[in-house]
This record gives sequence, structure tokens and C-alpha cells, in this order.
Amino acid sequence: MNVIDGLIDFSQTQLVANGNSKMDNISYDDLDGLNARFKDSQPHEILEWGYRQFGNEMVMGTGFGPSGVLLIHTLVTHQIPVTVFYLDTHLLFNETYKLRDDLEERFGLNIKRVNASLTLEDQSEQFGDELWKSDPDKCCYLRKVLPLKNYLSDKKAWVTGIRRSQSDTRKQTEIFEWDPLNEVVKINPLANWNRDDVWDYIERYDLPYNPLHDHGYPTIGCIPCTQPIDNHQEDERNGRWKNREKTECGIHLSAQYYKNVKS
Ligand code: SF4
Repeated sequence: MNVIDGLIDFSQTQLVANGNSKMDNISYDDLDGLNARFKDSQPHEILEWGYRQFGNEMVMGTGFGPSGVLLIHTLVTHQIPVTVFYLDTHLLFNETYKLRDDLEERFGLNIKRVNASLTLEDQSEQFGDELWKSDPDKCCYLRKVLPLKNYLSDKKAWVTGIRRSQSDTRKQTEIFEWDPLNEVVKINPLANWNRDDVWDYIERYDLPYNPLHDHGYPTIGCIPCTQPIDNHQEDERNGRWKNREKTECGIHLSAQYYKNVKS
């Protein structure tokens, strides 16, 4: 690892269009070292390091869950000027858009909208009505995975609010990971946090949250694929794609898959 003043020299890291990976210049030793160094750190320490390392090539994505609200509050409180974005599938709840507006107003932010690849009308014309019923993986690919990949194509780091305790598919989440699909370092400052930690923070700082959480929705995504659940169920993502095996839209799977393949 080439360390300069606490930072790693990723200067040779280039976006390569021919399929070569930017991972060529980032080793798993680098990521392991970062994970060891920051394993007991607060989110603001991780975000501050990320911003010093990647500058404006680091962005934060949110679906406006409580973890995202916490991280937005952390960025604002510690004056870390990272662009915050969300994937607008045009199928989000009105409550989610209202929360976006509240956060923008309260924190003086302009949260960047990243649109789906197709309008809903074009998607219906090309793939049939209600693709989320006939082929939810394709629907997620068009409305989330592809727009995210396009948006991150000139970025080097992507901050997310995912946590190990959210579900089986996320239980190996590390604070620093390599995302081979988007070719970015993925930074998950809340990887070690649990649901109670997050909600305690929301209450302590009296932060706004989606009111649907008070009506049995532990996690909130697109309207057609989000249902309320029994609050006592352990897996926080059980209300997504109910009655299907699918538990993830796909944007968080590649880092996990790649790690398993490499190990
Ligand atoms: S969550 Fe549902 S509606 Fe949203 S993009 Fe995925 S399949 Fe489509």
C-alpha cells in the first residue's frame, strides 16, 4: 500500500472502458488495512477520510431510510461537502418525496436526482405493463442498476447506508469494499451499526424520517414492491418483493459476490 499522510495513492486509478478494472490499482490488502484501521471509528471519521481521499469523486447514495438520514446529518454537521443522490424510479411513495423535500429544506441541500433509464411509458411499451410483476430483476436493472452504473462511471467512491444486520444478504458487509460492477470503492460507514443504534440517533437529534416506518414498513422502496410486515420479524427487508425469493434490487450485490469469488 502506498500511504501518503494517511491517504492511499490511487492516482493511477483510471476508468478503463475496455473492461479492465480499476481494481488493478487497489489491492485487497489496501481494503483490509482500511477496514482494520476504521473498524471502531465513528461515521464522520470514515466520511472525513473518504472526502480527503476522493474529494468530489466520492458521492453518497440514499433511499431516504433512517440510515441515509443519519449519514446526511453527519455530512452536514461535520461540513463534509459530499454530493448526495438518490435513484428516482418514478415509483416512490409520496412520503419519500416529502422527506426528500424536508431534508433539503432543513439542511440547505440539493439532493441530486438520478433518473431511471426509461420512462415508465417507454418501459411499458418495450417490455409490457407492470414489468415489476413479470420480471422484477429486469425492472430493477432498468430503473436502478443501470442508472447507478451510469452515474458512478466518473466517480471513485460510493457511500451507502447499508448495514450488516439488515439481512442475510448484507451480513458480510465491510466498511470498505470494492464494487466491481460500478468500479468504485464502496464505503459503508454504518456497516457495524444495528437498527436500534440508528433509531436512537434519529431520536437523539430529532431528525425527520419517513412516516411509513410508523405503519409497519421497516424498509421503503418502490410502491409496487414494498409492503408492511409484522414488526417482530427479524429481517428488516422482509417487506420487499413479498412472496418472492428476491430480497435485493441488485445495486448492493456485486461487491458481496465479488468478495466471495475472490476468497
Ligand atoms: S423495486 Fe420493483 S418497481 Fe422498483 S425498480 Fe425494482 S422491480 Fe421495479
